[in-house]
Amino acid sequence: VAAAATVEVRGVRKSFGKVDALRGVSLEVLPGQVYGLLGPNGAGKTTLLRILLGLVRPDAGSVSVFGHQPGTPEVLRQVGALIETPAFVPHLSGRTNLQVLARAKGLPDTEVDRVLEVVELRQRRNDRFTGYSLGMGQRLGVAAALLGRPKLLILDEPTNGLDPEGVASMRSLVRSLGADGTTVLFSSHQLGEVQQICDRVVVIDRGLVIADDTVTAIRDQPGSVALDLWAT
Ligand code: ATP
Repeated sequence: VAAAATVEVRGVRKSFGKVDALRGVSLEVLPGQVYGLLGPNGAGKTTLLRILLGLVRPDAGSVSVFGHQPGTPEVLRQVGALIETPAFVPHLSGRTNLQVLARAKGLPDTEVDRVLEVVELRQRRNDRFTGYSLGMGQRLGVAAALLGRPKLLILDEPTNGLDPEGVASMRSLVRSLGADGTTVLFSSHQLGEVQQICDRVVVIDRGLVIADDTVTAIRDQPGSVALDLWAT
């Protein structure tokens, strides 16, 4: 018997006025794998991730996360997400910022130190957030998402806007989380990045899934012309 899917999406549609952001999307995320959600700007990636988090309701179709409806306590407990820049307090240290979030969740400071270690910010933990580079800020965002050891981590374009060093560091972080057994779903518009990090890739274009396979299979597909356009 196959392992129960962590995420199951069936025929999901979502329109914003005249814009059909998702036009019947189905996909499965299996436990312990790193998924890349690949697509150009406006493909519907963020909308899909927001639906999985219960922030947006689909117009049609069904979604289950760990066998439950998105946004329910059972799901929220098991999911960590970084889909927009979290509002960290600029003049407080990275560690204090995380402590505030951890305490609100009833988590001890040891959990803060654990996640700081995971994202390799331990040495800079006492610096003010204003002193962080964009990449460090993004990693602090991932650290916040990792508080409480979520089984599923959802990241919306985590490397967007980072310099090459920040990109490399975020990539190795995502890879190491995957190696530790966390299920990761992250969006990207860069094929190369997805190839380097993921076990599987779901390609979404204009609100439709146009490919869903292993990285190797996607690369070798003769019909994957569109992918070349994004391979920047
Ligand atoms: P990007 O890489 O630019 O974030 P994306 O793949 O995440 O792109 P979405 O943000 O999901 O794409 O947007 C899909 C489409 O839906 C776009 O045309 C976008 O303008 C539209 N859209 C998304 N959210 C809203 C909203 N709240 N109101 C109106 N239109 C929206």
